Amino acid sequence: MDTRSDAPANAQTRLFLCLKDNYGVLVHDPASGATATIDAPEAAPVEAALTASGWKLSDILVTHHHGDHTAGIAELKRRHRARVVAPRQEAAKIPDVDETVGEGDTVTVGTLSARVIETPGHTLGQINYFFPAAKLLFAGDTLFSIGCGRVIEGTPEMMWQSLLKLRALPDDTMMFCGHEYTDANIRFALTIEPNNPALAARAAEVKRQIAAGTPTVPTLMGEEKRANVFLRADDPAVAAAVDLAGKPAAQVFAEVRARKNKF
Ligand SMILES: [Zn+2]
Repeated sequence: MDTRSDAPANAQTRLFLCLKDNYGVLVHDPASGATATIDAPEAAPVEAALTASGWKLSDILVTHHHGDHTAGIAELKRRHRARVVAPRQEAAKIPDVDETVGEGDTVTVGTLSARVIETPGHTLGQINYFFPAAKLLFAGDTLFSIGCGRVIEGTPEMMWQSLLKLRALPDDTMMFCGHEYTDANIRFALTIEPNNPALAARAAEVKRQIAAGTPTVPTLMGEEKRANVFLRADDPAVAAAVDLAGKPAAQVFAEVRARKNKF
């Protein structure tokens, strides 16, 4: 499975599976020839995607320090002399970092430009890369399609605030995430929002995608806002569904996340 698509501002992307259920993705700038890999779960599938596309790796943009996002960095950097950009707060845990970045910083890939969004929760230093002109978001393990990352290092309140930052992005933003978890996420989300029509529509779409052997990623932010229960913790219907009507959204989010952990 390996899909290539054009985004606005002439950015091109290429998505492929790594390890068991991680996604690798390349972002290519035809104007300059620059190509970034978002994270590096393992080197071989990234190399295969580079070979298949004929693109030359120039940058490695890291979202967070977990091994299933960083294990391929050293080998790729050695082979391609690529620049490694990583979250400032986690640089000590990530190999071969050249440049550290934080909230609001700009990262360029050739003529393409990304804004760094800090999204602590899954890890404390996690960052996401948003390319406004290309309308691309690389959400790492913060946001998944119809899901979100486990809150491992941060607090649910912190994670909810991070998700609100992503929810503020334009509806036509294409969201790429770190894992193919969509099917299980939908089965869980339906237990909270069985009557959400946007979720039902997404469930039908994902069923078709899985039957066809195509990835369920990327998705549009507008769709996620309507169908992803983890972005909807401030919706009164979601609060009521987990018996927390009238409670703060962060508390509702924490309960939904806790239920997913046990699902
Ligand atoms: Zn992770």
